[in-house]
Amino acid sequence: MRALAEGALPTMDLMDNTFDIIIVGGGPAGATAAYQLGLAGVRVLLLDKAAAFPREKPCGGGLTARLLDRFPYVREFLDAGEVSVNPLSRIHLESPDGTRATYQADSTCLHLIRRWEFDAALFRRAESVCTVRTGVMIRRCIVKPDHVELESSTGELFTAPMIIGADSANSVIARHTGLRDEAAHKLYAIDMMEETTYDRLDVKDRESIYIFLTLKEAFGYGYIFPKTEHLNLGYACKLDWYLTKLRGKGAEFHGEWVDQLKAKGDVTGETNPEGYKAFPIPISGPLEKTYTDRVLLAGDAGGFVNAFTAEGIYYAMTSGSLAADAALTAIRSKRYDARSLSGYQVAWQREIGSDLQHSVDIQSRLFNGSDRIDALVRKSKEDPELLRLILGYSMGMSTYEALRNHMVRSTMPKWVWGKMKAAVGLSR
Ligand SMILES: Cc1cc2nc3c(=O)[nH]c(=O)nc-3n(C[C@H](O)[C@H](O)[C@H](O)COP(=O)(O)OP(=O)(O)OC[C@H]3O[C@@H](n4cnc5c(N)ncnc54)[C@H](O)[C@@H]3O)c2cc1C
Repeated sequence: MRALAEGALPTMDLMDNTFDIIIVGGGPAGATAAYQLGLAGVRVLLLDKAAAFPREKPCGGGLTARLLDRFPYVREFLDAGEVSVNPLSRIHLESPDGTRATYQADSTCLHLIRRWEFDAALFRRAESVCTVRTGVMIRRCIVKPDHVELESSTGELFTAPMIIGADSANSVIARHTGLRDEAAHKLYAIDMMEETTYDRLDVKDRESIYIFLTLKEAFGYGYIFPKTEHLNLGYACKLDWYLTKLRGKGAEFHGEWVDQLKAKGDVTGETNPEGYKAFPIPISGPLEKTYTDRVLLAGDAGGFVNAFTAEGIYYAMTSGSLAADAALTAIRSKRYDARSLSGYQVAWQREIGSDLQHSVDIQSRLFNGSDRIDALVRKSKEDPELLRLILGYSMGMSTYEALRNHMVRSTMPKWVWGKMKAAVGLSR
């Protein structure tokens, strides 16, 4: 609708509650909420600290089929070629002891995109129906009795009757409203990655996704995601491990990881140190409370990430959409108190709550011992149905219950069964 240039002076209407709602953060969560509310005729101001879109966002860029089912307009713009996509249906899964199981699905498991393009496509849609300001970093949020006040890093003030905080893992909104406490180190992972063109770094099999459940000491996994023109590979570990063991040497660790992949014959070429980026991911499931008076949290800001697979885009868009539903009700009824906004928490718990809770359970059990992962991958190699259900669950194509039921029915040796039951939380 209206886009104000970066650095433009605030107009009176920005200062004067002309907007029904302000959304902080124009990633998948914020752009989804803004688009939905704008289409419903709500006056939305969408703020982002990035100077402009497209903007960089370190990410594997794996979109699951359930995302495309939930948001058909995404399927449409992928099909139309607005964003380039590599749809892949084969996965190589490797355990710490080097056992590799390969799964060929009947349909696409992951649609690999670059966030540079994908987020810009979502942002364009939001921009077509609401007012956006880029280059605005919010550094303070105060909830007053009759409005919310936001202050930018340059001292600009923005006010509105309510806000949605979609400002990512380090959310200022979550911290300043008391919804996330400051000491949350153990609740995060760090993903160290690069996205490099194929002329420099290539993979043996561009038709496959590679997942390495290889980290023995702490939560972690590596991945290779071949995109249309870029090779994306990365390694995620717990933030505690990153801070205490790597001590700022993430780039060196990443280089060694690429060397290991080259030694195995999976990757050829050279890493691009300039392309190295590390970014936090919340891995403890959604915050206990994702709303307060006049405020809702969506996406990484609210902890909406699958703690087992680090899938976050689907959950960001879904929580953004559910936050938009709740905001629309509040704006129409002019009831912005926490009690009136609590329907948001009920809605996300119903749609994605148990899924996210299972992911936390599996992560805490599976990433506690490499022998558990070895047992699981070895058994999956012999049992194609188990492999299908593990990877299907990871990619959002089959349910946790189907995986559990198969494991209950299967006649595996007692010791393997014990480890696997512990890994997926069957023995509490
Ligand atoms: C390396 C890595 C790999 C990943 N791989 C995958 C994957 O393959 N598939 C998947 O589904 N998920 C993946 N994820 C998770 C996924 O990237 C996130 O869950 C998802 O981006 C969350 O979307 P969001 O809109 O909440 O936040 P973001 O995408 O981070 O967007 C937040 C926006 O808010 C803006 N912002 C932040 N702070 C402020 C502020 N103070 N003021 C104004 N604006 C602000 C930022 O500029 C940004 O544009 C990965 C994450 C990482 C780190």
